[in-house]
Formats: sequence, C-alpha cells, structure tokens
Amino acid sequence: MKRKKKRLADLPCSNAGAPRQSHQVQLHQPPGPLKKQELPPAASSKERGIHHPRAEAHAPPSHQPPPRRAAHPLTTTAMAAVMSVSAVVPPAAAVARARTLLCVPATARAPREMAAEVAAAAALGADLAELRLDRLAGFAPRRDLPALLAKPRTLPALVTYRPKWEGGEYEGDDEPRFEALQLAMELGAEYVDIELKVADKFIKFMSGKKPENCKLIVSSHNYDNTPSAEELASLLAQIQATGADIVKIATTATEIVDVSRMFQILVHCQEKQVPIIGLVMNDRGFISRVLCPKFGGYLTFGSLEKGKESAPSQPTAADLINVYNIRQIGPDTKVFGIIGNPVGHSKSPILHNEAFRSVGLNAVYVPFLVDDLAKFLSTYSSPDFAGFSCTIPHKEAAVRCCDEVDPIARDIGAVNTIIRKPDGKLVGYNTDYVGAISAIEDGIRATQQTHSTVSPLAGRLFVVIGAGGAGKALAYGAKEKGARVVIANRTFARAQELGNLIGGPALTLTELENYHPEEGMILANTTAIGMHPNVNETPLSKQALKSYAVVFDAVYTPKETRLLREAAECGATVVSGLEMFIRQAMGQFEHFTGMPAVDDKFRALSNSLDNPSAVKGDRSTSLKPRL
Ligand code: NAP
Repeated sequence: MKRKKKRLADLPCSNAGAPRQSHQVQLHQPPGPLKKQELPPAASSKERGIHHPRAEAHAPPSHQPPPRRAAHPLTTTAMAAVMSVSAVVPPAAAVARARTLLCVPATARAPREMAAEVAAAAALGADLAELRLDRLAGFAPRRDLPALLAKPRTLPALVTYRPKWEGGEYEGDDEPRFEALQLAMELGAEYVDIELKVADKFIKFMSGKKPENCKLIVSSHNYDNTPSAEELASLLAQIQATGADIVKIATTATEIVDVSRMFQILVHCQEKQVPIIGLVMNDRGFISRVLCPKFGGYLTFGSLEKGKESAPSQPTAADLINVYNIRQIGPDTKVFGIIGNPVGHSKSPILHNEAFRSVGLNAVYVPFLVDDLAKFLSTYSSPDFAGFSCTIPHKEAAVRCCDEVDPIARDIGAVNTIIRKPDGKLVGYNTDYVGAISAIEDGIRATQQTHSTVSPLAGRLFVVIGAGGAGKALAYGAKEKGARVVIANRTFARAQELGNLIGGPALTLTELENYHPEEGMILANTTAIGMHPNVNETPLSKQALKSYAVVFDAVYTPKETRLLREAAECGATVVSGLEMFIRQAMGQFEHFTGMPAVDDKFRALSNSLDNPSAVKGDRSTSLKPRL
C-alpha cells in the first residue's frame, strides 16, 4: 500500500520546566511556552480504511470520509478551559457538538448471558454495549460471535478483547485475538477497541480491510496514576498517529485534582473535533465519568448494575441517567457537589440533582472525594464549579478556605456551604445549624400540646456528642435557643475548646456514660458513629440513654440508627438525621440557586433517597441517541 506522507502539525505542547502537576501552575498560570514537536508521519485515514465518525457527524453530507484531523497543541485556552467556562466550548457555530454516549459493558461469562445483558442495557436506555470478549469462558469466536452480533441487534456493539497486560483477562497470543476482532468487524460491530501498544500491528494485520462503518478505538489504560498534562498530550498524539477513529485514554486518580488534567485534554480535543474517551478510574476519579459530557467526551461507561463494573468506581448506567441526569449535561451545565472524605455514603447528589431538575436548572451535583480542600478549590476554580456542600472532615478547613464567611458560620467555626460568586470569591455559610435545631424543635413540639413561640430547647440541658463541624453547629444553635449546652467528645481537648467557646462544660465519652444530673435532657449525636456500614455501632449505651427525654442523631444513613432505635425503646422522643439533612439541603439549595426551596417538594424528594433509579423510572426513552 502506498503511504501518503502526512505530518501531524502542531503537536501537543510541552510544559517543560514547570513543576510537575503543580495545581497552582496548572490552573492559575498559563502553561510555559508551547513547544512544537514532530511525530513520525502517519498514514492517512483513508489509506488505513479508517474514518472519523464524530467529525463526519459535523460535516456536510458526503460519502467521502472527512480529512484526517491532526493533533494540535494544548493551547493556553485549552489549558485554561477548566478554569473558565466561556473557554470550555467554542461558539456553537464553530463546532457542532455531538452528545456523549452512554456505553454499558457486558461482562457475563457465557455468550447467552452476555446477549441478555445487552438487551437489559438497551432497556435501561444505553446508547451502545461493550462486549467484553475476554470475560467469556471458553470463548470460540466463530461459534459465539455470529450469535452475539446477529442482526437486528438491540444496541450498537463495541467489541473489546482485552489482554491481561492491559487489565483484561485474555492470556493468549495476539494473532487469535486479532482474528476475533477482525471477525467482529466483518460481522458488523460498530466499534472495535485495540490497545495502543499493538495498534500498529493490528492495523497492519487488517491490511486495509476495516469496514467503513466500523470505528476503531485505540486505547491506553494506566492503572497507576494520571500523567502530567504534557505527558497526556503526548499520549494523545501517539494514539492519533495510529490513525484511530476514536482516542481512548483511561488513567487512575490518586487525588481528585488529577481529573482536571483529563478535562483539559477533553477540552482540547473538543476544540479540534478529535473524538476522545477520557476517563479517570478510582473513586477520586469518579467525577470524570459524570462530567465528561460537559467537556466533550465521546462516551462514558455505566455498569448494568452494582457488581458488574468493568473498571473501578464505574457508576451504574441507571444512576448516570436517573441521578446525574447525564443526558442533560452540556458545556454550560453548572457543577455543584459535596466535598467530603468519605463521601460515597452521601445522599446529597440524589436530593440536589432532583431539586435542580424540578426547577429546570442546567446544573449537576456530584460527590467530590477530596483529600486537600485548598488544593481542590484552587484547581477547580472555574466559575462553572459554582457551589459546594462540605462534609466530614472539611467543614472547619472550609472556614479558612473561603474569602468571605457569613458571621454565623464564622461564630460556629464551620462552613457546610460554599458559593463561588461571579467575581470568583468563595463565600461560606452554615445551614446545618438551622436545619438541625429546627428539626429538634419541631420533633419536640410534635409531642406537646402547646403552641408556644418560645423554643422548647430554652432552659433544657442539651448534650452534644462530637466537637466537629456538625457538633459546633448544634452547640451554637442550642445555645442560641437558650439551652444549657454540654460537650462530650472522643478527643477531650476539642470538647474543652468547644465548651469554652459556648460557655458549657466538657466531658469525656466515658464520663458521659454515667452523666445524669437531671431529668428531661436532650442528646444530640454529631459523630459518624453508627453510620453505614458500621450500623451496629452506637455512641452511648442503652442504659445511659434512659436519662434522655429527646435523642437526635445527625447520622442519616441508615435513617433509623441503632442509637435512635434504642432511644425509642427507652421511651425518648427521637429525631432523625434525615430531618436535618432535608432542612440543611433546603438552605443550600437557596444559596446555590437564589430560589426558594419548597418544603413539600424537598420532603417528597427525600422519599426517593433510598432507591432513586426505581422511583424515577426510565428517563432515557425520549432521548434516543444519534449514532
Ligand atoms: P467532623 O467535623 O469530622 O467531626 C467528626 C466528629 O466525630 C469529631 O468530634 C470526632 O471526634 C467524632 N468522631 C469521629 N469518629 C469517631 C469515633 N469513631 N468515635 C468517637 N468519636 C468520633 O464531621 P462532621 O462534618 O461534623 O460530621 C459528623 C457526622 O454528622 C457525620 O456522620 C455526618 O454525616 C453527619 N452529618 C449529618 C448531617 C445531616 O444533615 N444529617 C449534616 C452534617 C453532618 P474527634 O474530635 O475525637 O476526632
């Protein structure tokens, strides 16, 4: 085959000299001077029998594949795009935008079950299914593939036969694997995935016989880390040089800021109309799977159900559709989320996404698993990262990270809500305090006949277990309502510190066991003790609970904790952390949106917290993909 020489113009920049992966350099300064590099000439798409489906979708109707798009450098605009939403996507007239597809991996061991998984993925509303041939036990290509790819099919097929050396299960030689992939192409597979390490060899093996309607994904998987921006850009150029129709780069997050570099690559490819799948594995990379439609990713993977993930921390397809409203995410979508560690237990994404949807707001709310709050906030500093909830253990650090702090939050010493103002300044608030105290007051009032306007907390002995963010909010609120507050905490020094602040005594947890100075006391647990999965733990013995008339637990997963169950058995009035959760979320919603939070609506939304996908049903049918 005659190879037409083609030079890849303007290859990815090198940011040589800049500190490697420094978040400040990365996002607050433009990268260093761009260095142009040259790669060896690559064959044109046509010569390799490869064309560009995404570019094709944007091109005027023609049966000729569009010219091959060369790699371009990561420009300063692209590098800055994660910071500035206006730079994320070029004007619509310049680049028409295809929707990010949702792909469900089929990972069953038997072909018949795999076919059933594909049918189930179609019913869920997926756009395509990935047939993981390496997962099939005793896979015989000539016997199994015709059945798996028989037409008509319920979904377009992406065929992957991943070798062990790239994280898959296939242990044989390349040749039989290539033959199977070639057969899949001949049988009409819409996509075939081949690993970068053997892409050239595979393309040579195919010797130009790739069907026009099959798109070749050339993939690279890094299970250790996420390389620097310049290394990612170089990897992108390498993959493009193979003649890939679609680039796939999957890396691993060791911290959440790693994902910003993948977003930069996506933005760059979006600008240049280079189809790319860019995902970051692990729970710290989770946001890459939800937010890729915002940055122009070609597709994202969602598992059929929990336990059927094909990569670490892959969300379910149902959650992507029903919780994160992935079909609605686009370049202008505002990003909100909950910053915490751990954060996976939080129901806030379910509640806030549903609340955003109910008022038609173009916004998404995601969990941010954050180790270093200051680094996170300075990395995701775009106005599009518009607001955050803060939970364990970042509420106190959040006070220091905000440019302005609401006086009550400052007095409490904990911020649970951060808003990014249009000028970029971060403002901190505390909605825990009102949420928790009003929940306890209403819980007590519900058991009383009086309609007094005086707080039922006034004059009562109010014991707070915990001296963290929630503990401070409860102690401050109870004090404000006229209660006499006592603090008990694992770390006694912190109990003393908070006690001094609000003018109340401090106890150790051991002392609390025998603390019974009077009747009618109120207890508020603000530690994570008893939180899922440690549901058998409780902060105070049942015997000690007998001294309390009212018991509140800030833990809301599960809704009925062991503490609340045992307190109820002792005859106490119990108030669930879910009440606080709903009320503090309503306060956050108002800060996030500037709209009033309607109580009934939030209460109804909270009913879907345990099974959001089931309650909401299928949201995908009216949004059929265009492939
Ligand atoms: P935080 O600031 O990190 O404070 C945690 C507190 O719990 C500290 O006082 C800590 O004691 C104590 N603690 C943690 N593990 C403990 C253990 N194994 N034994 C004894 N004490 C322990 O966290 P936070 O933001 O206040 O959140 C605390 C809990 O409240 C979490 O479960 C959170 O989900 C829940 N919460 C619920 C809502 C809601 O809306 N329902 C709102 C906010 C928070 P040390 O000082 O000794 O470390």
